[in-house]
Amino acid sequence: MTIVEGQRPTGDPIESTTRTAYRTCPLCEAGCGLEISVKGSGPGAVIGRIRGDRDDVFSHGYVCPKGSTLRQLHDDPDRIRVPQVKRDGVWHDATWDEAFEEIERRLLPIIEAHGRDAVAIYLGNPNVHTLAGQLYAKPLIRGLGTSNVFSASTVDQRPKELSSALMFGGGLIIPVPDIDRTDLFFVLGANPYASNGSLATAPDWPGRIEALQARGGRMIVVDPRRSRTAEQADEWLAIKPGADAFLLAAMVQVLIADGLVDLGDVEPYVAGLDDLRALVAPFTPEAVSTVTGIDAATIRRVAHDLAAAPTAVVYGRIGTCTAEFGTLASWLVDVLNVCTGNLDRPGGAMFPTPAVGGSNTRGKPRVGREVRLGRRTTRVRGMTDSMGELPAVALAEEMDTPGEGQIRAFVCVAGNPALSLPNGDRLDAALDGLDFMVSIDIYRNETSRHADVILPAPSSLQKPHYDIALLQLAIHNVANWSPAVLPLDAGQLDDWEVLARLALVAQGAGATADAAIVDDMVVGALIDAAIADEHGPVHGRDAAEILAALAPRVGPARLVDLLLRVGPYGDAFGANPDGLTLSALEAAPHGVDLGPLQPRLPDGLRTPTGMVELAPGPIAADVERLRAALDRPAHDGLLLVGRRDLRSNNSWMHNVEVLVKGKPRCTLHVHPDDAARLGLVDGRPAAVTSRVGRVEVPVEVTDAIRAGVVSLPHGWGHGQEGATLGVAGRYAGVNSNILSDEVAVDVLSGNAVLNGIPVEVTGL
Ligand code: SF4
Repeated sequence: MTIVEGQRPTGDPIESTTRTAYRTCPLCEAGCGLEISVKGSGPGAVIGRIRGDRDDVFSHGYVCPKGSTLRQLHDDPDRIRVPQVKRDGVWHDATWDEAFEEIERRLLPIIEAHGRDAVAIYLGNPNVHTLAGQLYAKPLIRGLGTSNVFSASTVDQRPKELSSALMFGGGLIIPVPDIDRTDLFFVLGANPYASNGSLATAPDWPGRIEALQARGGRMIVVDPRRSRTAEQADEWLAIKPGADAFLLAAMVQVLIADGLVDLGDVEPYVAGLDDLRALVAPFTPEAVSTVTGIDAATIRRVAHDLAAAPTAVVYGRIGTCTAEFGTLASWLVDVLNVCTGNLDRPGGAMFPTPAVGGSNTRGKPRVGREVRLGRRTTRVRGMTDSMGELPAVALAEEMDTPGEGQIRAFVCVAGNPALSLPNGDRLDAALDGLDFMVSIDIYRNETSRHADVILPAPSSLQKPHYDIALLQLAIHNVANWSPAVLPLDAGQLDDWEVLARLALVAQGAGATADAAIVDDMVVGALIDAAIADEHGPVHGRDAAEILAALAPRVGPARLVDLLLRVGPYGDAFGANPDGLTLSALEAAPHGVDLGPLQPRLPDGLRTPTGMVELAPGPIAADVERLRAALDRPAHDGLLLVGRRDLRSNNSWMHNVEVLVKGKPRCTLHVHPDDAARLGLVDGRPAAVTSRVGRVEVPVEVTDAIRAGVVSLPHGWGHGQEGATLGVAGRYAGVNSNILSDEVAVDVLSGNAVLNGIPVEVTGL
């Protein structure tokens, strides 16, 4: 355990047992280091102060208001600590064996009668923030044997994953903005001052942005709202909702037309420039000016600014993804980075070299496989899959539409789709109509209230952590292992054991089957893959020797040790004696600094051609949809967009009083001109109506939003019958996804459209 014991030995019987633990905050993508004071030991240990770890190699003491609330989350009286089984509508505490027996009794007959696709699984966003979700979700999916796999990725990030897969060869081969070294940071649809960043892991975005400006750099923010990030920007472009792809296409068109394309050092590895030229030709600044709401001269100027900056990087995030042309916008972000010579160079958009899990850190290019779309389609709407998952917008209709292949049972792993998916009312009713449902969750929330069995995960402080996915997107190469701060409660299963046992039940191995069976299978498969990898450091080695070297570890610690040791910095089980191991990370409680990002092309590419594809086929085919949209009549009503708040994190943190108290945050932002026109009064309620739903919410009149646009935050809508979130129920807010429409999607990725929803607003 990397715990520094007795840092404050005062002689006091309580103080003398105080120790300090260090851990990476698992709540958002920033990955801040925390310093946690723990009084006592064993089951009676109590968490004291939590603050930023000043010695953390990545975050240097930065922490946001959420990080210090891990204690409140752990102590929350509403947190479920033992399995729950619902019988005749009444919840009962159960033992783990009883809970798995109930699942076996109810789930297996459904599979037997209707096939394995009668069960769907949904993986919520927190799975990215747990070792269990990263390492044992796949075995669970295999155990269920269903192709009805859904996740939060198709709610807000699949466009970026898909464009990166098509351009660079992998869904997580995403270039991240090297903001610590750039001269011009061009941001679309992202508000890192509130979100702490996404698909670009970096603690302390405010500090990094302010440092950028202090060294003479600039930040331009494109957003319909003057977000906190836009407030800080040197220039705010108040674009119309959903129009990022038009703006970006026009900027590329300007670069090409004005002879400003300079591919820089990556030129030998770039394919498709001629095709790109033809694709963007219709999108002149004049052609997109109306649809974007940005005048042609400004578009031309910012394109020239990008080209002229010594270094620059374009970064688009949720606002660009959750739109009608999300994949095209995500693609164009990186097209701009390539065309301005900023791909793969310091200060531009760069590829990390993670210690664990990088799919492009070994071997050479030209080993990639073509991205296959449409291997299967959804039953009702015929939507295509991507990256092994079906679009989450189709979940409700797959549940509530009778017929062959209907989803009748549901496994929800750390997700709250009743709040996070479009047309929340329809999904809520669909969940109610299921034959059987299991939730793995720490709360009985708006989704898990529909379950028949809830399997609780331990609190974040009770399990070890390593950010496997997020450090693949870090703006600086680091590695950081967090041991569990507190022990598991008596009889509590770790969350990897919950997933493993659920997988075994679904496979018919029985309700009491040992989670170790799955764990051994996972480590065996990873060892076999490492040995078979001809580019890997343990190619051809003996599997038994490697397995023995990992002993006595089991569970996620054994898997992380293995992945570290066969990774780019690893000890290769003795071949590189100074290399990383889990033991080395345990001896470095503040993390290990692996250095700034380095140019990685062409070796980091995994496209079938070994090239950066500037005009991949599926994307090129979708551009006509964008071009046709130029001819559509302008929408003259109000459009709804979302927003983030620093104290909120999707729907998860609303049961922590210190984060939700004070001024109401779930309000409808309305521009003063719209408020005057519609007779809306600040602080008074209004009804917001879309094609699919209606909510009533207080109005907040503000000029920090473009006229014609209104904004609601997401993740609210608590206080529903059967949910037992006491604090959240008192600060309920409304569910913005009652208004979002499951029919509106980015066609190529199937991603939800959550920005630019046509609504009407009426004062009440
Ligand atoms: S920014 Fe994110 S990782 Fe850092 S303390 Fe806040 S919630 Fe935790």
